[in-house]
Amino acid sequence: MNVTRRDSDFGKKVIERSGTDINRCLHCRCCGGGCPFIAAMDPPPNNIIRLVQLGMKKQALESSTIWSCVGCHTCSIQCPMAIDIAAFMDVLRGLAIEEGAKIAEPDILGFHQEVLGSIRRYGRTHKLEIMLRYKLKTRDFFGDMNVGLKMLARRKLDLLPSKVKAMAEIRKAFERGKSRALQIVAEKGENP
Ligand code: SF4
Ligand code: SF4
Repeated sequence: MNVTRRDSDFGKKVIERSGTDINRCLHCRCCGGGCPFIAAMDPPPNNIIRLVQLGMKKQALESSTIWSCVGCHTCSIQCPMAIDIAAFMDVLRGLAIEEGAKIAEPDILGFHQEVLGSIRRYGRTHKLEIMLRYKLKTRDFFGDMNVGLKMLARRKLDLLPSKVKAMAEIRKAFERGKSRALQIVAEKGENP
């Protein structure tokens, strides 16, 4: 990964891509206080903002926090400065992939790859296939088995995939995708 200890343009690049001005952050920590996934984050979201403000690219892109964020927008609603933290985290995940950063949570990235690969193949998610491919990838065959069995019993998992009619549009959407990271992740989900 091509990083220096401080990258003075990093913050500017993240602001441009995310469309949210992180320099408005007051570091009041309301975002972390309301985040349903804060227990899985190290460090909390406003610390990632600080790292980016300071141009500490490697530390920001290699943090586990950016992968623990599920983009639920709870924090954005609570932020007094209306900072779109979900978009900010999304941009950091994309940059981590594009710049070859060490991924702190490879299993979460693996899950993203399977979801996007499924959408690319069928235009929608085929959950059973996603789960099976993810299990093969992680070699964790028995973890969460109860959840899978419950979903099957409640007919939440279709056995066979079904394609949307507008597959040409789906392909075009992937081709049009501005994010190089999106392409890389989806391709890996198709060709593990
Ligand atoms: S809630 Fe908003 S202003 Fe407060 S620390 Fe989080 S991002 Fe910064
Ligand atoms: S968008 Fe991310 S950081 Fe914000 S509350 Fe949701 S999980 Fe937490």
